[in-house]
This record gives sequence, C-alpha cells and structure tokens, in this order.
Amino acid sequence: MANIMLDAGHYGKYNRSPHVKEYYESERMWVLCRFLQVMLEKMGHTVHTTRDDQKIDLAVVERGKKAKNHDMFISLHSNDFDGSDDLVKAEKIDYVVAYVPSYAKNSRCENSQKLGLKFAEYIKGVIGSKQSARADTKLKDNGDEWYGVLRGWQKTNCPLGFIIEHGFHSNPKTANWLLDDENLLNLASAEANMIDAYFKGKAKIKVGSTVRIREGATMYNSKRKLFSWVYPLEWIVLQVKGKRVVVDRSADGMHSIETPVSIDDLTLVK
Ligand SMILES: [Zn+2]
Repeated sequence: MANIMLDAGHYGKYNRSPHVKEYYESERMWVLCRFLQVMLEKMGHTVHTTRDDQKIDLAVVERGKKAKNHDMFISLHSNDFDGSDDLVKAEKIDYVVAYVPSYAKNSRCENSQKLGLKFAEYIKGVIGSKQSARADTKLKDNGDEWYGVLRGWQKTNCPLGFIIEHGFHSNPKTANWLLDDENLLNLASAEANMIDAYFKGKAKIKVGSTVRIREGATMYNSKRKLFSWVYPLEWIVLQVKGKRVVVDRSADGMHSIETPVSIDDLTLVK
C-alpha cells in the first residue's frame, strides 16, 4: 500500500470563476482533496495532506517539500485561461492538463510525465471535456521548474509528482460541473481507483516472494527452455538483480531449480 501526499492547492477564497460567481478554485479543490483522501484511505493507503486548515496558507515550495518520504505527490487545481471575462473565448477552452516536472532526463520525471498524462486523459473522460487532455512542462528562463510545488518536490526523494488542472473554471460549464458535490465524488472515485491500480500493478517481486513462471518462458538472456513441469508450480524468489530473478525452491518444498529468469516472465503470487 502506498504513502500519498495530496495538495489541495490554494487556500481560503482564491481564483474565483469570472462567470460562475459561486466558484472558487481553492474551495472546490479542497473538497475534492478530502473526498480523494477518504477513498484512498478506505483502500488501505496512507494519505497526508500539505495543509490541515483550508484557511491557512503554506508557501508553494514548502508544500512540494512535503512530498518527502511519500510514494506520490499530487497537487489539485482548476485552470483559468487568461483571467479575462471574455465569455466566448472561455467557453471554447476546457482541456485537462497535468503539469509535470521536466528537469533533465531521469526516471522520476519520465515516470511522472507518463502517469500525469494518463491521469489527465482519464479525468477528461470523467468531466466530459471536449479538448484533448495533455501533459505539459513549464520552465523559468534559468531552467528551473516554473511551478513552486514541483521545485519543492524536486528536492525530495518522492518518485512521482505532478499538478492536475481539472479543466478551466473560466469555462462556465466546467465550473458548474465542479460545483456539484456528486460530480466531485465521482471524480475522486475515478482518481482513487487509478492511483490504487497503479500501486497494485507495481507491487514488487523481491527475495522471498512466491511467483509463477510464464508458460514458455526461457532462462534469463538465453533461448534455453525450462522443463514444462515448472510452469504449473509456484516458486520462491532467491535473488533479484534488476530484471534478472533467480527462482529456486518450489513453494511445496519438493523441487529446487536455481534458475535465472526475466522479471517480465514472472507473476507475483504473494
Ligand atoms: Zn491553481
């Protein structure tokens, strides 16, 4: 089970929709954040939030730094296309975007980019926005991340971090949609399911794990076939080095094969 840091974004009454006066980004994202927290906790994950009090701010970089020692950091927002009250323009813009870290080439950023895009595409489907979902990066002139929360996240050991803009609150249709608690509940449920599925799929195979070997799998980095009787059995992992996994004893204790296979050919039993 994962350890997740959620950031509800802004505090107090911040970023009002220019066309739907009841809508404040800070208030609705706070509700979404709480729904998401409750759902993830019910699934068995540990969830912390960057702030405990909706009315008290914490600087952006400090919020990002709270990702430390967590498996994932997500900052929740809705967007405004240019702060103007041009309704004709506002009604045309409704894309969901994940702002993802971009510094250098490393697996933290690449994984965040991939997952951020997946997230945005999934959320587009829930909200029903017309424009394609996207993942984007934004840098300052000096090459630093534009967004403070991502600068804070960058300083931590947290492997995944991104910002999600849940469409545009400058678009009246989206703002009204986000004002409905039932919609936010559906949104939180979709996001929680996605996060849960991500971490379940990543459950790691390690020394002592019980695994099954894929039918037809060969020995690691070779074409040498295994005996067909190994496939129906369950095996205990003896050693893991990158993708090379040595399985040895059968779970029933009857056999020992000490054979290297690729981790891609294994499924985790427990
Ligand atoms: Zn925002």
